[in-house]
Amino acid sequence: ARLFSGLEPRPSDPLLGLMTAFRADPRDAKLDLGVGVYKDEHGKTPVMRAIKAAETRLLADQDSKRYLGGDGDIRFVELLEPIVFGDALGDPARRIGIQTPGGTGALRLGAELIARARPNATVWTGDPTWPNHTPILRAAGLTVASHPFYDPRARTIRFDEMMLALGKAAPGDVVLLHGCCHNPTGADLSIEQWDAVIERIAERDLVAFIDLAYQGLGDGLDADAAGLRKAWSALPEVLLAYSCDKNFGVYRERTGAMWGRFADADTAAIARGNILALARTLWSMPPDHGAAAVRIVLDDPELAADWRTELSAMCERLGGLRQALASADPRLAYLAEQRGMFALLPVDKTGVHAMRDAHGIYMTDGGRINVAGLGIDDVAPFVDALRPHLA
Ligand code: PLP
Repeated sequence: ARLFSGLEPRPSDPLLGLMTAFRADPRDAKLDLGVGVYKDEHGKTPVMRAIKAAETRLLADQDSKRYLGGDGDIRFVELLEPIVFGDALGDPARRIGIQTPGGTGALRLGAELIARARPNATVWTGDPTWPNHTPILRAAGLTVASHPFYDPRARTIRFDEMMLALGKAAPGDVVLLHGCCHNPTGADLSIEQWDAVIERIAERDLVAFIDLAYQGLGDGLDADAAGLRKAWSALPEVLLAYSCDKNFGVYRERTGAMWGRFADADTAAIARGNILALARTLWSMPPDHGAAAVRIVLDDPELAADWRTELSAMCERLGGLRQALASADPRLAYLAEQRGMFALLPVDKTGVHAMRDAHGIYMTDGGRINVAGLGIDDVAPFVDALRPHLA
């Protein structure tokens, strides 16, 4: 038999199907709320000003494309550290940071490190979570379990159930937490809830694996990292998967980093060797361009300030849309309490399909919308189309 005739067919990614259907829809007034990229008021995902300026410099000044090495652009990692960790950065001897191909690469690298350290570890993810989390963790050979996280009908975090489930996790298990702007729900832990989760992680001897993919798009750079910083300071072992792809708008450049905090300097040094060996088998060296552009931005006070200004404007636009949705219908009031690009609407699949057929409004079957897909003037007609289907 031929080798590849043994392959099993795989279901196609529903989001890709949604994109194709949207493109094929001839209606002018159609709305794409499916794809997970930031869009401005005009539905565009522009290159951020500071990134554009950095790329211009890079093109003029780059005189070689020789390899950088397995940990990528070290200066990029160093310049991100104060932004990500603030005052919580801690002992450099216990910390490893390495550039990765996007947040996805960081998640996979972290998963592989966990699998090397403890092949039978279980990683606990919330229900629901980003649909790529479980496949990434499983691809590294890990066991994935899920704990309750969000109740779409009640529009709230199922915090007590989450805590109960974590109380049953075995010592050495890993808990995957979203740093901010939870995908797909928009529901973030409050700071008191972070405290309680961190305490539970400590008392059960668990490990926190935090995914921070939207820093600056929720409540601002510092507030969005508050939970991570608490965990980083309080727990002996933490992994962080970080993406620059959304907050620097460099999605296709695959820009991210992974940090680990370890119990002591010796463990950190050994972990570093393992991390580099794993990266070598996964991608050898990360791509340069996005990280180089981010490094140039952060290394220049003017560009860095402009990046912060533009990021704040993006964040404010999302907040404004959330306020507008919340005031348009009392059943959407909860959207103002949540953060980031994504929200789960209390509509079932029938409602989602009816809105697509009648109004050309595209969202995933689970009722997830990308809030940034709306212009402020789209809010009223969108809510009108939604109202008959709202639970
Ligand atoms: N983590 C979450 C929660 C995400 O939503 C995403 C992107 O959609 C990622 C990680 C991956 O980001 P990147 O595109 O940098 O790989």
